[in-house]
Amino acid sequence: MTAIAIDIPEDVLAVRDGLRGFAEAEIMPRHAANRELFEDQRLLYREDGRFSDELVALIGEVRRTAAEAGYYTMCVPEELGGGGLGHLAYFVGFEELFHHCGPQNWLMLYAISHWAFGPSRLLERVTERAREEILEPLMAGEKTMCFGLSEPGAGSDAAAIKTKAVADGEGWRLSGRKIWTSNAPIADYCILFAVTDAEKAAARRGGISAFLVPTSAEGFEVQRVIKLFGHIGGDEAELAIEDLYVEPWQLVGELHQGFKTALYGVSLGRIYNTARAVGYGRWALEQALDYAQTRETFGRPIADYQGVTFPLAESASELHAAHLMGLNAGMLLDQGSPAVKELSMTKAYAVQAGFRAVDRAMQTHGAMGFTNELGLTHAWHALRVVNVADGTNEILYRTVAQRLLKGDVEL
Ligand SMILES: Cc1cc2nc3c(=O)[nH]c(=O)nc-3n(C[C@H](O)[C@H](O)[C@H](O)COP(=O)(O)OP(=O)(O)OC[C@H]3O[C@@H](n4cnc5c(N)ncnc54)[C@H](O)[C@@H]3O)c2cc1C
Repeated sequence: MTAIAIDIPEDVLAVRDGLRGFAEAEIMPRHAANRELFEDQRLLYREDGRFSDELVALIGEVRRTAAEAGYYTMCVPEELGGGGLGHLAYFVGFEELFHHCGPQNWLMLYAISHWAFGPSRLLERVTERAREEILEPLMAGEKTMCFGLSEPGAGSDAAAIKTKAVADGEGWRLSGRKIWTSNAPIADYCILFAVTDAEKAAARRGGISAFLVPTSAEGFEVQRVIKLFGHIGGDEAELAIEDLYVEPWQLVGELHQGFKTALYGVSLGRIYNTARAVGYGRWALEQALDYAQTRETFGRPIADYQGVTFPLAESASELHAAHLMGLNAGMLLDQGSPAVKELSMTKAYAVQAGFRAVDRAMQTHGAMGFTNELGLTHAWHALRVVNVADGTNEILYRTVAQRLLKGDVEL
């Protein structure tokens, strides 16, 4: 039985089903075998807040196994050695993983290459020399990357970044600060954004460039790991860039046009986060439906009370809409449309719908909803965060409003 009339290509459906099998064979058993590690933050993180060696090893195993199975690079273009599937597959694949694995089996995050951490269509923009150096280990899941755009003084207004790239000989010297850079504590490379032409940047006419930088380079330092939501460690970091020398082969995309690279990356992030919201939302709704039919109060299952079931019906309606929007946005991108308005509406709607669905599922579970074992709190945290990451809801609505006012009123 399907609720979706959109025709999803056979190869995408096959990959979706294959990923479910992959999760059952490679993800869930790893969580089951390492229960002690996953239940104790002191084992998950090092003193300095970075992931522990054990966790890094498990993540690496998942990446490499998924790469061997073809899932990790399934959406990387064929000319880069990937499976050549597009944005729809990226959405469908991640939605399946989030929905099927739920938040407890979160190593699944590493089964498909995340656009900012591993290979993606973004690598079409790196130079031939950079490809030779980084492509093979990235494609094999041996090495990873991070995406350094946001700064302490520039988040939503990313064009206001201050990291400078000063010309020096044939190359540039980079200096500045970055913040919230996900995966930076364990990444091997970083795509760093810096101002290459201050005048153009001030006039908001380009002037920002992207550079591929090894995290081991002199002048690249992870200053601090950022801890979110009471965790004793984390995956986001603050970076100090001091006089870091980059050569022309390290340029990503065209000089002064780094913002195009940033926007494309963030588009992939919006698809990914829509999949995360729909997948976790559906998982949480199903938990709530099961619980409502077994938990009794006043001599009857709570599913008999409309006060309990109507919010769940509301979640189902919203998740269905978000699911359709995600599929549609993926298809538009695959047709070559930038889908700026549609992707903005989709991500902003989906992350709120997903968050509400998890919140309602917590309410359905009463006090049980707040226990770590059920995983609802983990999904709640994850979806709260994506109301900000990859474009806040307000900034996305700002984009939608700008498009509408320019006459793009197709819905
Ligand atoms: C978990 C996590 C991971 C992240 N990973 C990365 C990463 O890997 N790389 C990276 O570069 N960045 C990353 N970010 C940063 C993220 O992109 C920024 O947090 C985001 O762009 C918002 O910027 P800000 O936090 O500085 O908020 P601000 O820009 O300071 O905004 C503060 C508030 O004001 C609102 N606001 C701002 N301007 C307007 C406006 N014009 N109209 C209406 N409201 C407005 C915002 O919506 C928000 O509510 C990550 C963030 C998080 C939370």
